[in-house]
Amino acid sequence: MRYALVDGQREEARPGLVGICPRCEEPVIAKCGPLRVWHWSHRGKRTCDVWWEPETEWHLGWKNRFPQDWQEIVHHSNDGEKHIADVKTPLGLVIEFQHSFLDIQERNLREAFYRNIVWVVDGKRRKRDRKRFFDALKSSRQIGNAVFLVSFVEEGLPREWLSCAVPVYFDFGDDNEPGDPFPIVSPVVWCLLPRRAMARAVIVAINKTHFVSASQRGDPVFDGNKLISAIEADIRRRQSAEYAAFALQQRLKKRPRRYPRF
Ligand SMILES: [Zn+2]
Repeated sequence: MRYALVDGQREEARPGLVGICPRCEEPVIAKCGPLRVWHWSHRGKRTCDVWWEPETEWHLGWKNRFPQDWQEIVHHSNDGEKHIADVKTPLGLVIEFQHSFLDIQERNLREAFYRNIVWVVDGKRRKRDRKRFFDALKSSRQIGNAVFLVSFVEEGLPREWLSCAVPVYFDFGDDNEPGDPFPIVSPVVWCLLPRRAMARAVIVAINKTHFVSASQRGDPVFDGNKLISAIEADIRRRQSAEYAAFALQQRLKKRPRRYPRF
């Protein structure tokens, strides 16, 4: 954990300090070694919150995009269960930064617990995921600059995130790599929408700065439902135009040939 209570105040770990865990209220000690990010640690056991994962630079980088008062917030459910949310905005949106593997049951539990939650997933943890993702985008239908319709999304994205009921933002890093089909001009997260547009997955590239500022203001990052409706209307229009062209072709084939009269 980055924060513990010292004399009732949220404090970061510093050498020699002893704090109180905001969740279980047990003493925690400051771990200030040269290798890992300075943090607070429970005595004896690794952590009191089984949902907590050891933090990486990636976690900290993301959390620090948000005000300190919003980071590591203890969230209570009605039946007294408590967990520490990575970021919780004053309007109640929880943003969880997920680096390690999370199975589907576990993910569902957390979504049910937090309710108003979005995920930001470290897409670079497994090397092959990034390439698979961009390969899927290559064979998708692109709409404008930022929207991609993917027909076989299970081939392109980690399986454990496909059935998510809330938006998932994949972070595949800010640097272009050789062979990338889409040069990244400014840092983006790739949002997989929970709803499908006529069985196609919708992925939207969102500027990281916009994601953070919209979340901070309490605005939706974008209107996913409106986007899906527009895409579905477009698919229907294309399908009916194709059908009309096909029907016309069939009619022309059936028409008896007329020979010129002499
Ligand atoms: Zn604790």
